[in-house]
Amino acid sequence: MRRTKIIATVGPASSSEETLGELVTAGVDLFRLNFSHADTKTLREWAGRIRRVASQHQTEVGILADLAGPKIRIGRFRDGPVELHNGDPFTIDPNCPETDGTAECVGVSYANLPGDVSAGDRLLLADGQIAFRVESVSGTAIRCRVETGGVLSDLKGINREGGGLSAEALTEKDRRDIEVAAQLEVDYLAVSFPRDADDIKRARALLEQAGGRAGVIAKIERSEAVQNIDSILKVADAIMVARGDLAIEIGDWELAGVQKRLTRLAHEASSVVITATQMMESMVLNPVPTRAEVLDVANAVMDGTDAVMLSAESAVGHYPVRAVEAMARICVGAEKEWITSHEQGITDEPFDSVNEAIAMAAIHIANRFQIRAVATLTESGTTALLASRLRSNIPIFALTRHETTRRRVTLWRGVYPVAFDVLHANPDQLLEDAVATLRAINAVQSGDYVLFTKGDAEGIAGGTNSLKVIHIPT
Ligand code: PGA
Ligand code: MN
Repeated sequence: MRRTKIIATVGPASSSEETLGELVTAGVDLFRLNFSHADTKTLREWAGRIRRVASQHQTEVGILADLAGPKIRIGRFRDGPVELHNGDPFTIDPNCPETDGTAECVGVSYANLPGDVSAGDRLLLADGQIAFRVESVSGTAIRCRVETGGVLSDLKGINREGGGLSAEALTEKDRRDIEVAAQLEVDYLAVSFPRDADDIKRARALLEQAGGRAGVIAKIERSEAVQNIDSILKVADAIMVARGDLAIEIGDWELAGVQKRLTRLAHEASSVVITATQMMESMVLNPVPTRAEVLDVANAVMDGTDAVMLSAESAVGHYPVRAVEAMARICVGAEKEWITSHEQGITDEPFDSVNEAIAMAAIHIANRFQIRAVATLTESGTTALLASRLRSNIPIFALTRHETTRRRVTLWRGVYPVAFDVLHANPDQLLEDAVATLRAINAVQSGDYVLFTKGDAEGIAGGTNSLKVIHIPT
């Protein structure tokens, strides 16, 4: 069984019911709905299709709503794309009419940009393909010199090297989209360009006001977020290493170290981590990944990422299904390595809760005894999450009566959802029935040992206080 989870972004290349079904068969655990690139009506349709396809396949598939956030974009050009040469002067000006850009000047979506940049700053456009050096700011006009030229077209993103642009993390559009996400009952909400823990708290408050119960994901794609990672990890349910924007903000030479550090810190904080962007970029056009991409996915798995994500590959690429198949087989291959499945020395830290103590003990035992499966009888999934923070190759089943919990666990490494009603008329029968449920899905068989975690009184979140090893009779 593959432990690392796969997220695929839905787009024109993958939104038909047929392709969504093929993607689920190929191994997608969650679909990402990107609020930057599709309108609400389309996203509603796609969400409905994902739910239908999941139920046809009798499986749980999560939905992750990804907010557009305050990505700063240039305006449009009057006569189509312009060609910029090294050394040319070029002006960015929020007062330049929205649709009237020329080879000398273009508008920008963020009115405060002139106040946020100063002479000497380097501005990167179109994911870093074009670079400007700011020479002066006069009034609203940001006068630049082209350092790396190229063809610049409408609405390309702008980042400042080193970060620090002060746009609010939640735009008006994001606020409306949070309501849509709540109505769609998505499982995760990803906040784009958060600076600190407060941005995550604000998003969660808006989500809860709208009646949403999704987990909140902090996309780490600004330098400030890297600096504030400890406090962000305390309030977010997961982080995403959003390498597309992050590499521009911190410099691509910093990326490997930061990705590895974020992955480790997330697990130390009992949080969850997604590795995203350009993992299989060449598969937008090609049916097989490059060796470098194979290694990128495998390295993320070996470092302990919970999930790997496809963006353009599945949204607009020529081979969305093959990209998922390639990711799935590379994950499984990397998971066979000793380093991926063995605890890196069990923690010496004191445990924060009874739940955590039980979860840690469960994996400690499972990794050292012939346990076939760990089964957590769970309401919120917390015990399964905590157990999955330690490296292991023993599957962790989250047996729960809650559909929301079953879809929540789709993101967690090595955790698999199972529908099971713990509210038993006869508590003595509970574990016997749980074993029967696990046997029915071929998770265990005669002669196996199963390790259960449970509470005395079922149906109460946070009540896990015991651990029991059951030998299934032959
Ligand atoms: P995006 O975020 O795809 O919404 O830009 C991910 C990233 O920046 O890597
Ligand atoms: Mn981004």
